[in-house]
Amino acid sequence: MKTIIEPFKIKSVEPIRMTTREEREVILREASFNVFKVAGRDVIIDLLTDSGTGAMSSEQWAAMMRADESYAGADSFFRFRKSVRDIMGYEQALPTHQGRASERILFKLIGEPGKVIPNNAHFDTTRANVEDSGSEAIDLPIEEAKNSSSNHPFKGNMNVPALEALIERVGADRIPLVMVTVTNNSGGGQPVSLENLRQVRAVCDKHNLPMFLDACRFAENAWFIHQREPGQEGRSVREIVREMFDMCDGATISAKKDGLVNIGGVLLIRDEELFQRASTSLILTEGFVTYGGLAGRDLDAMAQGFQEVVEHDYLSYRIRSTEYLGTRLLDAGIQIVEPAGGHAIFIDAGKFCPHIEPEHFPGQAVACGLFRYGGIRASEIGSVMFGGEGRPRPNMELVRLAIPRRTYTQSHIDYVIEATVELFQDRDKLKGLRIVEEPPSLRHFQARFEEI
Ligand SMILES: *Cc1c(COP(=O)(O)O)cnc(C)c1O
Repeated sequence: MKTIIEPFKIKSVEPIRMTTREEREVILREASFNVFKVAGRDVIIDLLTDSGTGAMSSEQWAAMMRADESYAGADSFFRFRKSVRDIMGYEQALPTHQGRASERILFKLIGEPGKVIPNNAHFDTTRANVEDSGSEAIDLPIEEAKNSSSNHPFKGNMNVPALEALIERVGADRIPLVMVTVTNNSGGGQPVSLENLRQVRAVCDKHNLPMFLDACRFAENAWFIHQREPGQEGRSVREIVREMFDMCDGATISAKKDGLVNIGGVLLIRDEELFQRASTSLILTEGFVTYGGLAGRDLDAMAQGFQEVVEHDYLSYRIRSTEYLGTRLLDAGIQIVEPAGGHAIFIDAGKFCPHIEPEHFPGQAVACGLFRYGGIRASEIGSVMFGGEGRPRPNMELVRLAIPRRTYTQSHIDYVIEATVELFQDRDKLKGLRIVEEPPSLRHFQARFEEI
């Protein structure tokens, strides 16, 4: 088989400012060993997140010029709604500025103290919005999700017996809805199978519960179904996406991922009464129902992005290029969370530098090392992000290399591989860190460190 190439040509370029190892040493110290404090211009390859960092197509830029900025009933809104009807099959759609705005509106309406929201794994903002409503957020991943070297094809699946046990324990009347995150972000971008979605749906039907998707990476999830699920290879991603959404009663979506835009989100609700209440809440804080806190041009960019993200050439390149990075790291002896996820590769930092104890943040040490060696920015997903006073230590110490969509070429990724392998060869020299200053919450964004 030939190389799967980037299915696009480059029309507009953005220079990368090259830095030397010495310059990066100074930058890292000035940032107190926290890459969130490094300026974007000082980064060579930025793998901090795949959210809102992708490149738009020429058709998206053209759509932005055609946009209608009318306050109410803009053409841009009708094109957005037409695209959502076409891809997701929902008649009604509310635009929001990003995923968490959709979450806030939804959980403010349905959540309250005493209520419980099950999910295969809550994304951090989803959990925060559930908890802010007074409800309890409960993660129900399958067992394989906890093992970094398990090659289960659908490691994002929800643990269905655990869901049934939870409903049994707390009672269906305390569960306003069951949520399934596709792909499972916290679990490494791992997909959920159609079979698992059908099983969750059956449990919801039995107890008369609504089922919602956190559908940020719906197209990547559908591609994995197309590739891995028996009997699905002959179906198009469009068909699979439609089946995923048809099964549900609503969805929250961050279009900064599979909407292929830099800002935007969607809230889908089938229930007419709940939809009306959500519309009122949207107007209160986001904007009128036909723009939801966005410019008309953002709606047009989303409308076009949803059409492009389900193309097989795009998805095959997208998933293959993420897997390429993962395979090459594994070949070099670097343990990653297997199998490779859709949008990111997670390095197992605990195994990368076993001489650094979790309390000295191996993930942070690797993230600092990647910046030193290659000017690469990645985020720690381990004891810095999840630890702290009174919180249990996470299962794994990870470093996430998130891949922005359509932004870097294979040679950029080859460079990332070379720098990571070089760091791995020097891993004995990596030093642990200690926190010298931290804010009361979400400390990974702001904390200052020193090397031990
Ligand atoms: C990014 C993300 C969100 C939140 O979306 P924002 O646009 O960042 O507010 C929610 N859930 C998942 C799974 C995500 O990846």
